[in-house]
Amino acid sequence: MERSPTDYRTGLWVDWCPGCGNYGILAALTQALAELGLDPAKTVIVSGIGCSGKTPHYVRVNGVHTLHGRAIPFATGVKLANPELTVIVEGGDGDLLGIGAGHFVALGRRNVDMTVIMHDNQVYGLTKGQASPTLPYGVQTKGLAKPNIQGMLNPVLLALASGYTFVARALATDVKHLKQLIKQAVKHRGAAFIDVLQPCPTYNNVYTAQFYRKTVYRLDEDPDWDPVVRDPSQEHSKKMAAMAKAHEWEPRIPVGVFYHNPLVPSFEERLQSRLGNYLEEPPARQTIVSGS
Ligand code: SF4
Repeated sequence: MERSPTDYRTGLWVDWCPGCGNYGILAALTQALAELGLDPAKTVIVSGIGCSGKTPHYVRVNGVHTLHGRAIPFATGVKLANPELTVIVEGGDGDLLGIGAGHFVALGRRNVDMTVIMHDNQVYGLTKGQASPTLPYGVQTKGLAKPNIQGMLNPVLLALASGYTFVARALATDVKHLKQLIKQAVKHRGAAFIDVLQPCPTYNNVYTAQFYRKTVYRLDEDPDWDPVVRDPSQEHSKKMAAMAKAHEWEPRIPVGVFYHNPLVPSFEERLQSRLGNYLEEPPARQTIVSGS
């Protein structure tokens, strides 16, 4: 059955601020769900707390708006209880990398088959713009009385170090590119992470849509960039190349796929191999009817 992006939207009023990058993420997400032809009854979105946490209310699939920082463990339980579900986590940088940082790392180590989409606006938007873990040291956004006194946590680098097997970065305002990355991440069998640079016009007057338009470049502009691991002997060199790219920030910020390793067994496959009877049948993904 063919579905359009609007078939994946609930009728609820979206109450994000005008100009918020979350609108681009929501559009890319519903377009990706439609192009993948995912069955809403077999798709689950789990969120924590923050502006991004409202996403499950706006998408017509199964949804859980759970506790601050706990979206990943909740989603892990959902996935392991029913591996046929497509599970997507939507969380902010404060939610996933502040209180939820331990869970973020654990998901990479386990390589559970799910997708984490991080709305990265460098502030705690829901609580008036305090500095989040991704705001660089010394930067003063308009919600801060003084420049940020803490250092920046690099989400792409942390995901690579933790063991995520699909790692990408996107720009919320480039809906078409973000949609393509979401589709790739959902189709990947393992822990997938997308760091979405998401302008927050209400509290972040430094990393704005205009700033990103000037600084962001696509990794796939380089014909030699190839993030896919096709043989175990490539794992080290591909990860090192991805980590080097992940260190780039201002004045040029790369977006696209940093690392894609389909060779690592997912946690469900590890459980099946350890227990033998974890699943009656090998893990089966929803039939994806279309999309590249
Ligand atoms: Fe978006 Fe920022 Fe408003 Fe939250 S506070 S809805 S992140 S613009």
